[in-house]
Amino acid sequence: MPDFQTSPGMRDILAPESARWRALNEVFAEVAGLAGYELIVPPLMEDLGVFTRIGEATDVVTKEMYDFVDKGDRHVALRPEQTASVCRAFVQHRPVTPWKAWYSGPNFRYEKPQRGRYRQFDQVGIEVLGADDPYVDVEVIQLGWEFLSRLGLQQVVLLVNSLGEPDDRARYVDALRLHFDAAGESLSEQSRMTLQKNPLRVLDSKREQDREIVAAAPTIDQFWSDDAAEHFATVQSGLRDLRVPFTLDMKLVRGLDYYRRTAFEFAGGTLDSAQNALGGGGRYDGLVEDLGGPPTPGIGFALGVDRILIACDDEGVFGAPGTAVDAFVVDTTGGREALLITAELRAAGVAADRAFENRSMKAQMKAANRSGAPVAVIVGTDELDAGTVTVRPMRGDGEQVAVARTNLVPELRQRLAAVTTQESPQ
Ligand code: AMP
Repeated sequence: MPDFQTSPGMRDILAPESARWRALNEVFAEVAGLAGYELIVPPLMEDLGVFTRIGEATDVVTKEMYDFVDKGDRHVALRPEQTASVCRAFVQHRPVTPWKAWYSGPNFRYEKPQRGRYRQFDQVGIEVLGADDPYVDVEVIQLGWEFLSRLGLQQVVLLVNSLGEPDDRARYVDALRLHFDAAGESLSEQSRMTLQKNPLRVLDSKREQDREIVAAAPTIDQFWSDDAAEHFATVQSGLRDLRVPFTLDMKLVRGLDYYRRTAFEFAGGTLDSAQNALGGGGRYDGLVEDLGGPPTPGIGFALGVDRILIACDDEGVFGAPGTAVDAFVVDTTGGREALLITAELRAAGVAADRAFENRSMKAQMKAANRSGAPVAVIVGTDELDAGTVTVRPMRGDGEQVAVARTNLVPELRQRLAAVTTQESPQ
């Protein structure tokens, strides 16, 4: 056993998984970029207050934060999520609204590690600040859907709901409290504790004991104001217009007080139910205000990268892209030629690797093979004298040929194009 290993709940992401990680981020960047969202890269650490102000009632903030006092006596925390940071950044920089931002990066939560639940995990997400239009909701939800579809996921279920306006919610919460109080001790002890703090959260209970009581609870639609109902109707018709399939789920509530109107979740079809949420989001008010800014409506979502990749594995989609270089240079003249040729190839956009330490021809060819490169470019003393290189196909039954050094790049381009068309016949 080595002296050091990753801490519990933290992982190294090595190739080929790391290539998939990057590819996923590229897909997200593309989807968000096409819709005019700008990348924001907030710091990993913020003043503790940025998170406690808005998440007082959540376990994420009360129990799971990595917070500590730094050397300057500031009480800081590693971010458990990024919406709070985005809102803090909005207040600090006051960009023109509507401000559309996307992000990608790690969060930290001191949770019990298990499959799909880690102490450091990545999220990608978007936020729109400063627009109350229901079509913003449609855009945001559609982008999440589009992203997951582009990865090839087909078993994701989109759940949507409206939490109504804050007054509607307050009346709903009262009704829920009455309902759950009436259940008395039939409700699980944990849920009775949750009830004291936040009756909405009881609806999230996955405990068998609570199932029937939760199923019989009043639903939010009975409490929607006309405005909230109309907003939600537009959101739904917009989703239908864009052919985004969704399921209404009246039990989908987000426990924090600042959520209002639209709430949604992307549930993976293949993951076990406790860990099946790929991510979700909704409309929030008051977050920006709580952080010292003007009243500003907001909406966004966060999707868990780790869980999305598990869902991709389960559905057999979005495998790791190949990381092999295009050409492997074998140099038996001492290594300087490999230095020059790899530099020339890389400058021309041809991915190239080489062997080091002046190994034997045999050892270098082995390395070329291992690299997965479709061609080896070989330089020995004969080639060096003649101003040529030998291009040898590493797969298939092509012949090796001598190519003038000056003609190497066009020659390789031609061969690589042929390899690509062979591998992808469409
Ligand atoms: P939340 O910010 O709690 O709404 O979580 C949004 C998404 O982030 C979840 O649906 C998960 O996909 C992912 N997520 C949250 N916590 C973790 C964790 N500890 N490990 C891995 N993914 C997580």
